Amino acid sequence: MHIVTCVKQTPKSENIKIDPVTGCLIRAGADSAMNPFDEYALEAAVTLKEQVGGTVSALTMGPPQAETVLRDSIARGADRIYQLGDRALAGSDTWSTSYALSKGIEKINALQKVDVVICGKQTNDSDTGHIGPQISAWLQWPNAAFVKKIVRVNQKSIVVERLTEDGSEILELPFPCVLSVVKEISNPRVRSVKGRIAAKRAIITAWTADDIGADKEKLGIAHCPTRVVKSFTPTRENTAQIVDGTNGREKGKNLVSLLKENHLI
Ligand SMILES: Cc1cc2nc3c(=O)[nH]c(=O)nc-3n(C[C@H](O)[C@H](O)[C@H](O)COP(=O)(O)OP(=O)(O)OC[C@H]3O[C@@H](n4cnc5c(N)ncnc54)[C@H](O)[C@@H]3O)c2cc1C
Repeated sequence: MHIVTCVKQTPKSENIKIDPVTGCLIRAGADSAMNPFDEYALEAAVTLKEQVGGTVSALTMGPPQAETVLRDSIARGADRIYQLGDRALAGSDTWSTSYALSKGIEKINALQKVDVVICGKQTNDSDTGHIGPQISAWLQWPNAAFVKKIVRVNQKSIVVERLTEDGSEILELPFPCVLSVVKEISNPRVRSVKGRIAAKRAIITAWTADDIGADKEKLGIAHCPTRVVKSFTPTRENTAQIVDGTNGREKGKNLVSLLKENHLI
């Protein structure tokens, strides 16, 4: 079985700030790591490989420094690592990002047939949850989102349990397919010493937009259908009002009067 896991380098959760002037995420200088949900996705892929045999490939789209999440993927059990990096990809929205990732997956598929693509549910920076379902739309492969368990797998299909608004449902998806997973899917392991050494030595296959045969009219900020009109960090206003009174009973009465005055009761 060949499993491709999409991993994204994101700022560590506590470092996410928005530039008040430009409205963009401030990525420069922020410590980065593998997007938390992608750790669960990768662990699910490695566990599946250990159960049924096969290969785990990790794929990222990002700038040169994103190679650290690919090396981390090797330390966590991936076998091959692929990076899409090209100035033409800069400023891509989710439509454009998922298109580029789907073209990367097509290229990986041409090298070795892909059975399953596993994405995290969402990222901790842009946080849309679009990418997994959008990749499946570009590839026209079936998709299950919010997958919490891999129930069983055979030569032709995978059976998964996914979260729904009011419980869960069991779906069977034929290969090739795309899954987006939630934290319940796995328990990420500690990186082994052997894995860390392999990570340092691993060779990254780096591709440009031309290498993956992407249509440049679908890439980058100039061609994205999405426009960010404004983004900002909400300011916290302290509008609490202290209700006075000489004792508890009086404070209670005053509170009731205040609520009535404001038509709240
Ligand atoms: C108009 C516009 C301009 C933007 N400009 C920039 C910019 O200049 N620079 C910038 O960094 N971002 C930019 N973004 C954000 C960028 O579009 C998103 O970071 C990207 O599309 C992924 O979306 P997400 O983080 O919401 O992923 P989600 O859909 O929340 O992620 C779900 C899963 O998809 C996979 N995934 C997501 N992104 C990647 C990736 N890059 N590689 C591999 N797997 C991935 C992971 O498995 C992840 O868990 C821009 C967005 C918009 C709308």
